[in-house]
Amino acid sequence: MSYDDNNIFAKILRGEIPCKKIFEDKYVLSFHDINPQKKIHALVIPKGKYTDLDDFSQKASPEEMVGLLKGINLVAKKLGISVDGGKGYRALANISEHGGQEVPHLHFHLFGGEKVGKMVE
Ligand code: AMP
Repeated sequence: MSYDDNNIFAKILRGEIPCKKIFEDKYVLSFHDINPQKKIHALVIPKGKYTDLDDFSQKASPEEMVGLLKGINLVAKKLGISVDGGKGYRALANISEHGGQEVPHLHFHLFGGEKVGKMVE
């Protein structure tokens, strides 16, 4: 699938749509999910144009890959849910049709602030 420049996260990255920002650096933007499924539900997205994790794994630079993983950790720390200081969380990426992905820009969901429950329903 080619990258759709009109997806909602592309618009957020361009500043065309507002978001409740948690963190931003050279590689990632993080914001609160508009429809939270747990007490804490954050999204972490790479700044590059990648549709999903498979696309990212094949095309992203090593720096972007490290940047995304470090970004997840930094956001978890900022939200107080990382293992150092908090009680942990779930990081989840839906990938394409069977994964239930709705927005075609790679994103990790971070769920926490309470027990997250079963892995798959
Ligand atoms: P997924 O099903 O993995 O593609 O998840 C997409 C997520 O994006 C859902 O949890 C939505 O609630 C969330 N979402 C959609 N639009 C926005 C928005 N404008 N700001 C924040 N989160 C959004």
